[in-house]
Amino acid sequence: MTPFTYFRADDTAGALRTGAGADARYLGGGTNLVDLMREGIERPRTLVDVTAVSTEIEDNADGGLVIGAGVTNTALASDRRVRTRYPLVARAILAGASAQIRNMATVGGNLLQRTRCTYFYDEAAACNKRVPGSGCDAREGFNRIHAILGASSACVATHPSDLCIALAALDAEVTVVGPDGERRIAFADLHLLPGETPERETSVRQGELIVAVHLPAPPVGRSAYRKVRDRASYAFALVSVAAVLDVGEDRVVRDVRLALGGVAHKPWRATRAEAMLRGRFADEAAFAAAAAAELADAAPLRDNGFKIELARRTIAAVLHELAGEAA
Ligand code: SF4
Repeated sequence: MTPFTYFRADDTAGALRTGAGADARYLGGGTNLVDLMREGIERPRTLVDVTAVSTEIEDNADGGLVIGAGVTNTALASDRRVRTRYPLVARAILAGASAQIRNMATVGGNLLQRTRCTYFYDEAAACNKRVPGSGCDAREGFNRIHAILGASSACVATHPSDLCIALAALDAEVTVVGPDGERRIAFADLHLLPGETPERETSVRQGELIVAVHLPAPPVGRSAYRKVRDRASYAFALVSVAAVLDVGEDRVVRDVRLALGGVAHKPWRATRAEAMLRGRFADEAAFAAAAAAELADAAPLRDNGFKIELARRTIAAVLHELAGEAA
């Protein structure tokens, strides 16, 4: 591991003072960053521990919550307000990792965790994300876990977080603070598609620190998070679906939010499916048609074509379940 200097920040100002340099990184629970440092993929010269910064969950005036970026995943999933008002968030976290990892991992770190593409972690492999311009061995390699939506010729990696899929469905926002002050980022704009620059994964700028996640007032309707993975114990999603469905007494869809994990370089908000479902009678045919429309542009690689049908079926099954509960 490359030698580095360690600072522990007591507050946001202290974190920014030491974390603004180009070779500095903020350290949350370290459940991803430390692994990347051990592998030599990340080589910061300065680590700024921010686990003591922004550690509260607070109610806000519009009926939502403000979640400090230093809140652990365990604290978030066990918070009574989260479990009762945003069960989708608690379920996504519990699906994401073991209790030991959840105890360490922070919300801010969860948002910034990096892909689990095996070629990204293999220094012998070509990887545009690790070494821009070097190529992408995943495209012609073993690509069962890779993206089917929104990928590029430069990178076909998927986003690994479960929590982020729930936050995308809930229209969360993120506050970052940096040398140029504070700004708010809509969750849909936080993570980026790979394009020609897969090394750029988020819109957070160098030196900026994520300090909070804002959840708007809970949406009306029932919600679910379903994760399909290779084994029953913890594994990254092949496909996951975060959904909120509001169906009226006339069985017409009043509102729906859908976000997909395991299929793209970022949490994939299924806006095409949502638009097809609003105002439609909530039945199997409508769910299947919306799911098919969302996957219509999917571009499978050699090993991951199964994800298209898996995503279609998982979307339809989750909506069916939620519509059934609402009946
Ligand atoms: Fe690297 Fe992306 Fe290709 Fe994986 S898919 S090898 S992360 S460029």
